[in-house]
Amino acid sequence: MFCPQCGREDEELYQGLCRLCYIKETPLINCPDDVEVIICSHCNSTFQAGRWTDSDLDPEELMIKILNESIKPAKAAEYVDLSFKIINQRGSKWDVMIHTQGRLLGEEVDQECRVTVKMKRSVCPDCSKYASGYYEAVIQLRADKRQLESGEKEKADSILKKLLQKLVEKNRMAYLVDRVEIREGVDYYIGSYKAARSVVNGLKDSLGGILGESPRLMGRDKSAGKDLYRIWISLRLPSFKKGDFLAYSDSLGQVVNLDGRGILLEDLESFKLQAISWKDYPQLVKVSDSDMIKKTTVTSITPHKIQVLHPDTYEPLDLDLKPFMDDFKIGDEVEVVEIDHQIHILKSDNKRTRI
Ligand SMILES: [Zn+2]
Ligand SMILES: [Zn+2]
Repeated sequence: MFCPQCGREDEELYQGLCRLCYIKETPLINCPDDVEVIICSHCNSTFQAGRWTDSDLDPEELMIKILNESIKPAKAAEYVDLSFKIINQRGSKWDVMIHTQGRLLGEEVDQECRVTVKMKRSVCPDCSKYASGYYEAVIQLRADKRQLESGEKEKADSILKKLLQKLVEKNRMAYLVDRVEIREGVDYYIGSYKAARSVVNGLKDSLGGILGESPRLMGRDKSAGKDLYRIWISLRLPSFKKGDFLAYSDSLGQVVNLDGRGILLEDLESFKLQAISWKDYPQLVKVSDSDMIKKTTVTSITPHKIQVLHPDTYEPLDLDLKPFMDDFKIGDEVEVVEIDHQIHILKSDNKRTRI
């Protein structure tokens, strides 16, 4: 047997060649043809293997990553190590020298090959949806039986902004298309329905309120074979606020807190706290608000009664003495609220924190 390449005789042949010719002739890698990298000029995501994937690499890093992924070492090669050198760049075209080190039949081998990488700028479908103002959901922020206050709008705006900033890292569609203020409240147009859901839950967590949802059929996506819906999600803030007074199943209470879980009510008779969930909201009736709290003076105290002056008419009123009034003295100023012609003495805030 002889090697057809060099003519050497009495050699063991590897795929028809002697050892030295085999090592010389066998590539360590299959050098790729020209490589095309499609990149979204808005969000930097890349189109690979038939789909768009997020990327936070710069174009050069991205090109190296894609080269690394597209190069496969030859079967016979061992310990293959690649390094890349950009030898020329013209616009979006890069000439790259791939330096390969590895072993063939136990022998150290160095090889080089040259590829051209074309960086093609494009717009991914999500970014083109954003550019066209596409949205899947509208969050309608409203208040029940009243106008939204500017403080509530500001708070909602800042919660929404913060949440979208966080969500957009994982979901490119978590963007705000538009914010429209109308007489009834504020409408937020959101790219992704999923993002709108988490935003509205975040808004409810801190502002409380009742959620509602209504989908509307917008048409049909023929290529995906499914109906297209746009979804309106409403968050209706309660008619009352912290400090207001409510009637609830034959008792009266003051709202001491409200958030996503429900309403915390302090009973005006027993001064016990009661948690009410939002599903019981329809049973709550606002009977007075915190602006109606007035100050008056204690004029007499007996073992079971306390006398205060009516804040408007100065008529003396004898009321039941409650345990929290133990350290009230004649001449003290106390807070009262009148509900249904009945004066209720309130715990002042410092007394509330003491229990
Ligand atoms: Zn040979
Ligand atoms: Zn994009």
